Amino acid sequence: MSAIVSGQHSLFADAGGLKRPTLRPYQDRGVAEILACLQRRADPLYALPTAGGKTTIFTAVTEVVVGQGWEVWIIVHRRELLRQASERLLAMGISHGLIAPGEPLTNDPVQVASVDTLLARLDSLRHRLTKVRLAIIDEAHHVVASKWQRVLEAMSKALRLGVTATPFRYDGKGLGEHFRQAIEGPSVAELIRDGYLAKPAIFAPPANLDLSKVKKRGGDYVAADLAKAVDTDELTLPAVRHYARICGGVPAVVFCAGVEHARHVAQQFAAGGWAAASIDGEMTTAERDRAIRSLATGRLSVLTSCDIISEGTDLPIVGAAILLRPTESTGLYLQQVGRVLRTYPGKTEAIIIDQVGNVAKHGMPDERRLWSLDGGLKGLERAVAATRRCRYCHFVCAKGPTHCPHCARAYPKPPVAAVPEVALATMPGIAGLSADRIARMKLCDILPLAETEQDLRQVAAIKGYKRGWVQRVLDERAAVTARGYMQRRYA
Ligand SMILES: [Zn+2]
Repeated sequence: MSAIVSGQHSLFADAGGLKRPTLRPYQDRGVAEILACLQRRADPLYALPTAGGKTTIFTAVTEVVVGQGWEVWIIVHRRELLRQASERLLAMGISHGLIAPGEPLTNDPVQVASVDTLLARLDSLRHRLTKVRLAIIDEAHHVVASKWQRVLEAMSKALRLGVTATPFRYDGKGLGEHFRQAIEGPSVAELIRDGYLAKPAIFAPPANLDLSKVKKRGGDYVAADLAKAVDTDELTLPAVRHYARICGGVPAVVFCAGVEHARHVAQQFAAGGWAAASIDGEMTTAERDRAIRSLATGRLSVLTSCDIISEGTDLPIVGAAILLRPTESTGLYLQQVGRVLRTYPGKTEAIIIDQVGNVAKHGMPDERRLWSLDGGLKGLERAVAATRRCRYCHFVCAKGPTHCPHCARAYPKPPVAAVPEVALATMPGIAGLSADRIARMKLCDILPLAETEQDLRQVAAIKGYKRGWVQRVLDERAAVTARGYMQRRYA
């Protein structure tokens, strides 16, 4: 392999001599492995976590093979991805055409194509497509869709290179029908260790969520049912409150279950005093771009959406992801949390507020996952990789430590025996604690658990506090939030 890295590969002998932006060591390795695969005519699928720089890698591959006279078409399924690929090629001085609405066809041997436009022009492009030597498929986990199949079949002589952060279908099945060799780049944990990704800080406050009536299809929840189940004040209002308490003011994206849900959530954040907006496919691209830019410039704090943000949108400034869409798909979960892991000056961690149990279900984002082309996603590398949630601050980490890494409080030992209940025990408890236990706890310990006004009323009743105490605590929390906002704003 080292011979290839140093550019001595027989087919791509000039690779080392070409001008290109300095690649990170793992990117260099990835390019070499992909080229070696292509020379063996084994269609590679290259896996690299979100924000690992897959565009950089496949444009570097493009540069090498175009130098050998290959015709290369890069196929994407989102406008944002088209723009990213095109910008990167331009930065490397590679002239190319665009197969996109309103763009004329050019003779450039490199084309960046929107899969939908390609499909619409399939008949007129059919002859040209037979000349393509390499089809690069961005976000390659989508390749199973029939439109991709029709486009790829038209490129009958082309080798394939797929790139994705989630090298399996959204239902977890493998992509072995479409690619012949898997190449695995560094893991999320390795990229965090080396400073290429931000470390996730996950908070999973307990939530009132009932999915028993939500049907499933194709391995995930049916969207319309799901939107109905999660579009509730019981879920949204705590999300607004936790955002304010944990990271108020930090640019945040909220993943929702539907367009209406996204709009309602944006309204609730706005009602909570945050500059918030939602984006969806019904808006014009200019409107969407404006909203996304507003998040980057600080005019907006919170941007909600259903599908628009989860792939392709490159928003390094975003410091927080709020998960309001439960999913059975590990791939979708990883794509969503991946949006927030990109590094940015002043961003020390990537905050993830999970209101819907996705982290508990799928594991930590930086957990190593096993997969193969034929078998798909096999699960987590560690046999036991359960997560642990702190009941005081709701911080989540992989099981192991005895104290919460965030607030340093000790995790409770396994329960020994039930505390004898007294008359107060008939009252509903907070965070699973009996009223009797609450009565004996110090206020400083019970306060972090009492999240809602209702919880505070219970504490007041159990401890016999005067009227007005609840309001005073609420006012203090609001003040802390405002201070936190000032402290946490990015430089
Ligand atoms: Zn804690």
